[in-house]
Amino acid sequence: MILPPILLHYYITERCNCQCSFCSIWKSSSPAADAATDDVLTNLKNARQLGVRYVDFTGGEPLLHPQLHLLLRQAKRLGFKTTITTNTLLYPQLAESLKGLIDFLHFSLDSLDENQHNTMRGCQTYNSVMESIRIIQKLSEKADLLCTISEKNIHQLPQLVKFARSLRMMLIVNPVFSYSGSATIDPALLSDVDAFAAHPFVYVNKAFHRLRRRGGNQTGHPRCRVIDSTIVISPQNEIILPCFHCGFCRIPLAISSNHRPAVINMAPPGWQQRISASMNDHQARQHHRNPIKRFRESETFRLFKKMQGRFSFCSGCHINCYFDPSFVYQPDEYMLLSLQAKARYAFYKYVYNLPASTRLFSQQGSTR
Ligand code: SF4
Ligand code: SF4
Repeated sequence: MILPPILLHYYITERCNCQCSFCSIWKSSSPAADAATDDVLTNLKNARQLGVRYVDFTGGEPLLHPQLHLLLRQAKRLGFKTTITTNTLLYPQLAESLKGLIDFLHFSLDSLDENQHNTMRGCQTYNSVMESIRIIQKLSEKADLLCTISEKNIHQLPQLVKFARSLRMMLIVNPVFSYSGSATIDPALLSDVDAFAAHPFVYVNKAFHRLRRRGGNQTGHPRCRVIDSTIVISPQNEIILPCFHCGFCRIPLAISSNHRPAVINMAPPGWQQRISASMNDHQARQHHRNPIKRFRESETFRLFKKMQGRFSFCSGCHINCYFDPSFVYQPDEYMLLSLQAKARYAFYKYVYNLPASTRLFSQQGSTR
């Protein structure tokens, strides 16, 4: 059985108002790098036609997109489940307009030590996270706390777990991942993170950790299924291949820009020619009403599908954003571990009830 892609990973802006120590996106910020609203609305419709269920509006800081509420409204209208991860700087002023539009809203919180959190984020977001929590509770909305764990803040986990539980909010524990040589976490410390997996209101996906302990993706037996599972679109309205972090090929989606050739930068040896040759097929379908569908029927798509997880740069890869959907596409221990983590997440977020006395934000002081 051929499964349709499950996730649309939509980079709606490259701008960010933070400078997180573990991220490089803010270094390449460009003032003009927001996705055009019409392009996003069209691509949402076309992706949904292919059967895509989830859309993650990402960036950069997605709340910087001036029409985010319109994009979310259209996504909900089409039947998508929507995801946003935000540093929260803009959330207090946008909360009302975004109400009811985000199924999985994540507030980034890396430490309950204000200085440490702000230092890791490279900007003053601690107070806006706390303010956003107050707002979300007032609006009776649901949000999760997302903690990016590194060697600097792993000691904060017990306090963060206690804090999230006191608020009845899920704490998503996300060990920092490495790409293009960026810093990562010592795999030995992942066992310390695993120890929190059984705690109420904590989401730890042990599948990621097992993959990392085994050295990440193996190019001989790749576990990455990024091309099958995920469509990655840039703010410039291009499909990025094979994935955002190692994207060396960009295929324009707009009909009006089909005269533009695909951009192929830093391709592995021999790939410039192989992709260029496959583009004939792509060009021939340029008037297709659904350019995403057209792409997924093309020779270029087949080429990348064959190579997903097999490029030389895929060796050791453990980029969460792509392995999470990849785990859905192959029945094995990773799939089971991942499903188990998601079932616990759904249980604690939507079913489990703690006594009302533990849910008040005013108790925050006693947990820190
Ligand atoms: S808020 Fe997100 S996009 Fe911005 S610098 Fe931090 S991790 Fe990167
Ligand atoms: S293994 Fe990693 S680098 Fe390679 S295609 Fe998959 S997500 Fe991208």
